[in-house]
Parts: sequence; C-alpha cells; structure tokens
Amino acid sequence: MSVSNAFGGPLTCPVCGTRTEGVLPGASTKLLDDAEQFDRVLRAGDRIENLDHRDLEQVYYVVRPVLGRSAARALERWTCPHCQTPGWFVITYGDERIQSMEAVELTRSLLQSVDYLSLDFFDEVFSREPGNGFEHFAQPDSTRMWIPGRVKPGFIERLPLPA
Ligand SMILES: [Zn+2]
Repeated sequence: MSVSNAFGGPLTCPVCGTRTEGVLPGASTKLLDDAEQFDRVLRAGDRIENLDHRDLEQVYYVVRPVLGRSAARALERWTCPHCQTPGWFVITYGDERIQSMEAVELTRSLLQSVDYLSLDFFDEVFSREPGNGFEHFAQPDSTRMWIPGRVKPGFIERLPLPA
C-alpha cells in the first residue's frame, strides 16, 4: 500500500527568512511506500533503508539518470507557513540517507543542477498566474516537453526562468 509521508525542517524561507522546524506544508512524498511508516516525517540526516535510484525514479521525473553516482539531487515543492509563499527545496539523497535539504530559488541554473523533479513540478509551473511568462507553455503544448517519467532534453532551457 502506498502512503504519503511529510517532510520536516529545518528549512529557511528565502523570501521572509523564517526558519521552519516542523512539518513543511505542501511537501510530501510516496518514497517510503510502506504503510507501517505512514506517520514518519522525513528530515535531513534520516536513513532510508535500501534506497537507490530505482526508488527515486518511481517518485520523481528524471532530468538525468543517476546510475553509478552515489548522490542525487531532487527538487521538491513546499509552502512557507509564515509568509505562505509557495517555494522549492532541494533534497540530496545518498548512501541510503537524506543528506541535506535546502530551500532554493527557482532559476534555470538551479533546474540544470538537479537530477529529479517533483511530480508536482509541471502542475505548479503551468498553473501560475497569467502574465508571468509561463502562459505560452499551456497544457497541450507542455505535454510534448516530457515523456512519461523523464524530462526531454532542451525542456529546461526553454522555460522562461531567471538564469
Ligand atoms: Zn516565508
């Protein structure tokens, strides 16, 4: 049975500077896939038994395969509970652990530096307000930019994001 687990801080909001120690609103994962761990909150430093790239490929879009590398970076969504700003954080997985979690600004170079994108990524990006530069990536068009499970080469370069 598949369950969703929360992520927990500490995470510092890049917008308002507030450090959140508890559960991160809007952030969850099905990575554990174990009903007995339904109430577990995942934090930096936590060990995840037998974690490897195949598990990560089940819960993220693959930007680039991590086969043969020990660490992988994944972009996740959250909302700062203090200023309510929807944002992003990067989780580094490696050696069957969450090695670190860091709040980030969404830029093109950031996207080019991660191995995995949250399955929420496209919903989030394409549902933004009109006038923000994303409107010409309307849904029918955007579906051509990734194939199931994998982000197409050149997609990130076309996103209207700050460098
Ligand atoms: Zn904030």
